[in-house]
Amino acid sequence: AIWNLGSINIDHIYRLDHLPKAGETISALDFTHGLGGKGANQSVAAARAGAETYHLGAMGSNDQWVIERLADAGIFTGNILRMDDVVTGHAIILLDENGENSIIVHPGANRKLSIKMLQSRFDNITARDTLLIQNETNCQVEGAKSARKVGARVVYSAAPFEIEAVRAILPYTDILAMNAGEADQLFTAIPGDLPVSGLLITRGADGAEYRDLTTGQTYQQAAFRVKAVDTTGAGDTFAGYFAAALDRGDTIPEALRLASAASALQVTRYGAGDAIPMLEEVVAFLAK
Ligand code: ADP
Repeated sequence: AIWNLGSINIDHIYRLDHLPKAGETISALDFTHGLGGKGANQSVAAARAGAETYHLGAMGSNDQWVIERLADAGIFTGNILRMDDVVTGHAIILLDENGENSIIVHPGANRKLSIKMLQSRFDNITARDTLLIQNETNCQVEGAKSARKVGARVVYSAAPFEIEAVRAILPYTDILAMNAGEADQLFTAIPGDLPVSGLLITRGADGAEYRDLTTGQTYQQAAFRVKAVDTTGAGDTFAGYFAAALDRGDTIPEALRLASAASALQVTRYGAGDAIPMLEEVVAFLAK
């Protein structure tokens, strides 16, 4: 099974004719809101890829629709803590006519998690499981340590990138997942050997690669050629699908191909979590 210690955010998306300057008040052209957060997106991807997926996280006591949306995606939501007096994490996303954006994220409940709340849940992770973690919650290192102790696979997405967070979790990580910009920052900060078994590096329309550091072998995967309209959440789609594929026993090349097809489909649709395709769609896309 897949466990995911991950953020849950509500994305508030305002379309504007220009981004406001300091002191300026402007009217939005329109407004939408949806499910977001790297954690929720990766859980949706893993569940839609067919994995038994348990989300570990927190949100405020309102926003029941978020739980329903996660459950509809096939995620086990019973380990999501509901907190009084804390808001659900959210992002205010401003988009101008040219696709330029400004974003404010408020972590809310995502950063109120404590080890006291989570340890009994971490204890349910077994050797056959995979634990996903990103850099948007508390207790990242504790989660990785617990999972490692029982022999589970730990996949860490170094996003949003923070070198201190990466350094802390690296000794308990099996697979470190990054996009090209994050990988550049990592290799600049740590030029030498990394104590992980694999590196997953995604490069947008230039594809992805997996470096198996135990054998020294590198696997390349080209991106599928599609008409991208919104790449928000592409990396999360890739990470969730890749982890779900490994969890069911796929080889690295198989997992790369499936994740690449899933994220190619995802970027052809607007939205983040809501745009993640189902396994059937991905399989049909690959058969074309
Ligand atoms: P992030 O969203 O974390 O920045 P990337 O931009 O590297 O991640 O995208 C993750 C993956 O999504 C890529 O490796 C690729 O497989 C797929 N992808 C992203 N952009 C495109 C695109 N324009 N066309 C096809 N596939 C894409």
